[in-house]
Order: sequence, then C-alpha cells, then structure tokens
Amino acid sequence: MKQLIDKLYNQTTLTKEEYAALIAHHSAEEAEYLFSLSREVRHRCYGHDVYIRGLIEFTNYCKNDCYYCGIRRSNQNADRYRLTKEDILLCCQEGYELGFRTFVLQGGEDPYFTDEKMTDMITSIKTRYPDCAITISAGEKEHESYQAFFDAGADRYLLRHETANAKHYAQLHPASLSWQHRIRCLYDLKTIGYQVGCGFMVGSPFQTTEDLAQEMLFIKELQPHMVGIGPFIAQHDTPFRSRSNGTLEQTLFMLGLIRLTLPHVLLPSTTALGTIHPLGREKGILAGANVVMPNLSPVSVRKKYMLYDNKICTGDEAAECRLCLQKRMQSIGYRVVTARGDYKVS
Ligand code: SAH
Repeated sequence: MKQLIDKLYNQTTLTKEEYAALIAHHSAEEAEYLFSLSREVRHRCYGHDVYIRGLIEFTNYCKNDCYYCGIRRSNQNADRYRLTKEDILLCCQEGYELGFRTFVLQGGEDPYFTDEKMTDMITSIKTRYPDCAITISAGEKEHESYQAFFDAGADRYLLRHETANAKHYAQLHPASLSWQHRIRCLYDLKTIGYQVGCGFMVGSPFQTTEDLAQEMLFIKELQPHMVGIGPFIAQHDTPFRSRSNGTLEQTLFMLGLIRLTLPHVLLPSTTALGTIHPLGREKGILAGANVVMPNLSPVSVRKKYMLYDNKICTGDEAAECRLCLQKRMQSIGYRVVTARGDYKVS
C-alpha cells in the first residue's frame, strides 16, 4: 500500500482500482504515512495557515426531500426560520469584526429567496465589505440565476454533488432530483467563473468502496477549487434515522487522498467531523485540510439548522466559536488567519 501512496504523491492520480485498494485495505500505519505526505503537500502550498469561513445559515426551509437531511421538506418537526437581510448584515458585521473575510450563505432550497432577493443581499454585503469573498450554498439553480448572483458579487459557490455515482444518487434522493442536473450545475458554475466547491458524504447509506474510488476520479476531472466532505450522520426525523454513521477514520483517509489528488484544493475540516469526534476538526487539519467554517448564524436559530443529530457549536456565540477554533488550531501548530483565503494556483 505504501507504494500506491507514493505513486499518488508523485503522480497526483491513480486508477479506480488502485484508489479502491487503498481505501479498502490500508492499515493504521499506512494511513499515518498518507497523512505525513498530505500535510507536506499542504504546507508547501498553504504553509500552516488555516482559512476561516463565517457560515451564515440563512434559511432552513427547503423544497427538496433528500433522505438524509434533517431540513428536508417532509420533516414536520423542523422548526422553520428565515433570516432577514438585516439579520444577515448583522452577522457579517459581527464576523468582520472577528476577522472573517469570507461569508458563506448557506440554506435549504427556499423559493422565498428569489433571484432578486439573493442579488440584493449579495450586493448589500459586497458594498459594505468589498474586501470579503461571498460564497453561496443554496442548491441547484439555473444558469441565469447563478450568473445573476455572480454579477452581483458572489465569488464562490458550494454545491456538494453528494455522490459521483448516479445510481447511488438515486438511493439518497427522491426521483424529482437528478444527478445529471446537479453535475451540470457544477459545470455551469465553473463556466461562469466561480471558485467552485463540490463534495460528498463519507459513509452515506449504500456507499461502496468503488463509489469512494469514483469520487476521486470525479474530483480529478472536475478540478474544483474546494471539496467539502464530512461523515454522514443519521438524523432522527429522516428515512435514514437508523443507518450507521460514517467513521472518523474513513473521512480522514479520504481527506488525505483528496489532498494528494488535488494539491492546491481548499479543503475544510467540517463541523460534521467535529461532531463524530471531539478532536475531529484537529485531526482533519492533520490529514491535510486547510479550512474551518465556524458558525456565524444568530444563536437563536442555530439549533434549527439541524442537518444531522448532535451537531456541535449550536449554543455558542460567534466570538466563542472563533476563539475556540483559534485555540484548537494553535494546539496542533497551525494558525487561523484573517484573509479571504482564495485558491492558490501555485
Ligand atoms: N441546500 C444546499 C445546502 C445543503 S446542506 C445544497 O443543496 O447544496 C449542506 C450539506 O450538508 C449537504 O450538501 C450535505 O452533504 C450535508 N448533509 C446534509 N445532511 C447530512 C447528514 N445527515 N449527515 C452529514 N451531512 C449532511
């Protein structure tokens, strides 16, 4: 297995069979070896800097019914909310003072937020904070909507593809959602000029080793600027309530593989990783990740954006989250920086 890891390090790609062999058969020691190389690659490009993104969860209304997600339309127990433009601008103000230079507006697919409302919001944020990057994560739209957001000042778009296998996609989503459309969205976003983030859940129901290997081929082909991955975590009000969660070990291993496959990629150590293990986010950084996304949502709504059970940081003020992550990163020899944290070409 070490030879395969060396090959990936040297060539930044493997065959599907080779990826699958690594994913299925590595030892703990080989995983550590992978992480030593993925850290080296990360240090070469990004040093010991950790970029922070202020996450603003602006609506938990959603017209979709994804089987894994706690804010799916059919979940009658979800306590729905929408932030106003003023709420969102207050989050940005607080975030700016705390050193955030990227704001991520994430939400369910909520038809209330028309293109007009979105572009107005984006313009307002960009006018007040021209030195900040704006990331939108609001699901699938048509090309013209993405173009309008971009023209209003959005810099980045985060749209996890969830799985690179169309058949697997159909096991995670109702028939009204199509894998082909989601993938087309990612290519549209790239064409428009966004810094694009895709991503997938590790250990989602029905996922196989081959699927995980396919993920690596998919990202190699798409060449996204960001890849957001985290373990699947069951949510008690969804059809997948009794499914087992993705593991820390497998998520870390995939982070290491992604770093070697796309050396310059922006790679978050996610909240879901911090949810399945108390030191999950630190371990994610040590596996090659270089981004963390503290929550900037008002505390009053945080418990309502429950994509999965036991989500961490739902009771803390933004300043506490920011400080906590800063200390966590310091404890492992990294530093949180105040910077937009754009994709670096070299
Ligand atoms: N509506 C937006 C944002 C979705 S929520 C969109 O469609 O992109 C952001 C991400 O949370 C999803 O892409 C999914 O990968 C992740 N997520 C949702 N439910 C989850 C669960 N039960 N466990 C782990 N991650 C989950």
